[in-house]
Amino acid sequence: MDFAISDKIQTIVEMINEFVDAELIPLEPEFLVKDFKELLPELRKKQEIVKKMELWAPNFPAECGGMGLSLLEHGLVSEALGRSPLGHYTFWCQAPDAGNVEILHDHGTKEQKQRYLNPLVRGEIRSCFAMTEVDMPGSNPVMLETTAIKDGTDYVINGHKWYTTAADGADFAITMAVTNPESSTYRQASMIIVPTNTPGFNLVRNIPVMGHQGSDYFSHGEILFESCRVPQQNLLGVEGQGFVMAQDRLGPGRIHHCMRWLGICNRAFDLMCKRANERIISPSGKTLGQQQTIQNWIAESAAELQAARLLTLNSAWQIDNNGAAEARDSISTIKFVVANTMNKIVDRALQVHGGLGMTDDTILAFFYRHERAARIYDGADEVHKSSLAKRILKNLATK
Ligand SMILES: Cc1cc2nc3c(=O)[nH]c(=O)nc-3n(C[C@H](O)[C@H](O)[C@H](O)COP(=O)(O)OP(=O)(O)OC[C@H]3O[C@@H](n4cnc5c(N)ncnc54)[C@H](O)[C@@H]3O)c2cc1C
Repeated sequence: MDFAISDKIQTIVEMINEFVDAELIPLEPEFLVKDFKELLPELRKKQEIVKKMELWAPNFPAECGGMGLSLLEHGLVSEALGRSPLGHYTFWCQAPDAGNVEILHDHGTKEQKQRYLNPLVRGEIRSCFAMTEVDMPGSNPVMLETTAIKDGTDYVINGHKWYTTAADGADFAITMAVTNPESSTYRQASMIIVPTNTPGFNLVRNIPVMGHQGSDYFSHGEILFESCRVPQQNLLGVEGQGFVMAQDRLGPGRIHHCMRWLGICNRAFDLMCKRANERIISPSGKTLGQQQTIQNWIAESAAELQAARLLTLNSAWQIDNNGAAEARDSISTIKFVVANTMNKIVDRALQVHGGLGMTDDTILAFFYRHERAARIYDGADEVHKSSLAKRILKNLATK
């Protein structure tokens, strides 16, 4: 294993850290109180600067206009960007577009790449990924009710999805629907590109999540597909291969999320230490940081952060070198370890800030609300733990 950081990536990470500090963190007070749409003109200006710095779309393939970084390299970039909720969007490597670019790149036809992939990488359009359904367990996604039935040269899609992140303002949705109900369980569903202006694609609402309805990129949509008709050429890859493709998408996607969460840990940790040093809690001038409980939190957070970071870099290295299938255990492990480490560090940082931590005068309350979901999406903790334990037990039983 070699996690040595090349000079090139070191320079890029330093440039990003400076940019996040100078250009994005100052926008956060507005971001916390305004509708995200109102911030878009300002963010577009920032994106122009990012393009001039030649740091646009760091993880997207070079041949379609991205920087083509490896997973490990992008992990380090993602960590730096994760320090602000505006980081990934501004540098154009945000979920779910990042995963959709991978799918289109690996499985799209020439026409699909021209129409969807290239403008997506250039930042001209956005996309979303519609798999989870209101009435079905997302933890067992083979249980889908949404169907895509062939009619002439089209598919006709019916179904009820939700948590389609960033559907508001997206140009197309990669939609999971059952196309082959007669096939074996894992071969029943397909991915189909559905332009959001297709009649029958109905964005019912942006779901209020933790008191925040959001808009545009920062939102989660409920979608009702009602006899939504798209040409069969919109099928991505091979019919019935939807789950296999989704699995391919999720492995690297989990590294992206984990490294972003580590960026959040770093920011929360820095804020906690700063507050501990500066907050005077007695007339003699004693600071919060002189209290042993706070010292314990700081020491434990530093150790947990470092452990989570090394586990994640190890996973990225394994995927880059041995492929996602070989790294399965490692990917399951980081998904629940890093999500919980982040939740703990953000919680401690908020506690150290007392009443201030509960306000939107720091970014901590946003992290606390917004990032609780990390233990649920991309596979709930319990599901990852269970599948990891099952594999460990199976391996031991066969020895
Ligand atoms: C902020 C956010 C963004 C999201 N973005 C998207 C998106 O863009 N596109 C998309 O398609 N979906 C998205 N999702 C949906 C997400 O993938 C699902 O919420 C997730 O898969 C869990 O499915 P569920 O909500 O139906 O919970 P359920 O499947 O009903 O599970 C509920 C709980 O039961 C427990 N559980 C489930 N299975 C097991 C098990 N085998 N063993 C032990 N315990 C278990 C877990 O604690 C789990 O949290 C998003 C969700 C959130 C919160």
